[in-house]
Amino acid sequence: MTTAPDAQAEPRREQEEFRTYCRAWLHDNRPPPAPVRLPQHPIETMTRAQLDYLQAWQKRCYDAGLVGADYPKEYGGGGNKGFQRIANEEMNRARTPFLVNMIGLGMAAPTIYHHAQEELKRELLPGILSGEQIWCQGFSEPGSGSDLASVQASLTPDAASPGDFLLNGHKVWTSLAHFAQWMILLVRTSREHKHKGLSYYVVPVEGHRGVTVRPLIKMTGEAGFNEVLFEDTPVKEAWRLGKTGEGWNVAMTTLLHERGAGPLVTPAGGVGSEGLAHNVRGLIALAKTQRRNGRPATEDPQVRARIAALAIRERGLAENGKRARSGTLVDHPMRLPLQVKLAGTELLQDLAAAALEIEGPAASLYLSDERAPAEGQWPLAYMNSFGATIAAGTSEIQRNILGERVLGLPKS
Ligand SMILES: Cc1cc2nc3c(=O)[nH]c(=O)nc-3n(C[C@H](O)[C@H](O)[C@H](O)COP(=O)(O)OP(=O)(O)OC[C@H]3O[C@@H](n4cnc5c(N)ncnc54)[C@H](O)[C@@H]3O)c2cc1C
Repeated sequence: MTTAPDAQAEPRREQEEFRTYCRAWLHDNRPPPAPVRLPQHPIETMTRAQLDYLQAWQKRCYDAGLVGADYPKEYGGGGNKGFQRIANEEMNRARTPFLVNMIGLGMAAPTIYHHAQEELKRELLPGILSGEQIWCQGFSEPGSGSDLASVQASLTPDAASPGDFLLNGHKVWTSLAHFAQWMILLVRTSREHKHKGLSYYVVPVEGHRGVTVRPLIKMTGEAGFNEVLFEDTPVKEAWRLGKTGEGWNVAMTTLLHERGAGPLVTPAGGVGSEGLAHNVRGLIALAKTQRRNGRPATEDPQVRARIAALAIRERGLAENGKRARSGTLVDHPMRLPLQVKLAGTELLQDLAAAALEIEGPAASLYLSDERAPAEGQWPLAYMNSFGATIAAGTSEIQRNILGERVLGLPKS
């Protein structure tokens, strides 16, 4: 593995200057209001109009140096160290839209950076950072989610093109595949070993032979993820990351970053649906508009106690996030980021549940209903919040990893 850019560096004068630059740029370059309702999260991007708006925003941020700041210049990055975290903080502070190429930025780019051949890095990384090439992740299959090593999609030699392969298999829950040009993919190259029989490839999706993308409808009524079928799909040897049979190790780099514990800070930030924050601030704003026994819900002691308890959890998470960025306060490199994923997604679920209780019967009004409180976004957030505790590893798996790898407890 090559040395990762150092995201933990102590504040330097250049970093402070970069922060001032980001703040000013974001102030002067706020995007115009979206012509469509934005999704709550990048992986819920459903329509071409949503994608066009968000993709254009990512490109502008990239051109301004706010995306890919810590990647080397030869791969389209800014060539700095410890700058991306600052850009992310400022994008969040400015409440600008999020960066839509989330799987590309968060998972594909760091994996390619650490494991691809030089030529492939130069070819693929700039398009990921700018958002011009949308990426998806082909790990899960109908029988392989938490047990990722049981992947069955397989490569066989392509008789027509010596050295290259044909891919056959069935991936599922593939977020953003309906817009993706490329996929990161875990495949079986040997049936003799479970883990050592896996290899890791990048494969074109859009317009590539033998690839079928079928949208899946979620309980929200929206289509954000897909199943992807490969039938004799050509795969080039040059698209492999790492060595044949070492795909499991490469996948660990992806998962580490996906769970927020990777050494390369993911360029991402901002917020989703305009006007609504799925946090305590958003909950208080909602409670102010709702009534209990003829009075504002914010005056109800039970509502106040519930919001206070959530505020304490939210504050704790924010402080943990700060600790994770300080080298001297980190006792184990994976502990805080893994905790933040677990606690953050469970907090989101509890926030949304509290919002629905505060709304009362009005919580049954959904997005399209003009009378719905907060534009009907909280019921959507409630349904989406369950996906958040499953995607990137379920809460149970996250607890297993924390127990076994961080606390050193025996395997169950
Ligand atoms: C919103 C969303 C987006 C997603 N996007 C993608 C994507 O883009 N690409 C992709 O490849 N996948 C994606 N996924 C799939 C996701 O990674 C899997 O759903 C997840 O890894 C769980 O796998 P599974 O669904 O097969 O559940 P299973 O592994 O079958 O688990 C079922 C239940 O059993 C529990 N369980 C399983 N094993 C253990 C164990 N050892 N100990 C304790 N409990 C256990 C689980 O925690 C869970 O509660 C997405 C999922 C969601 C919800």
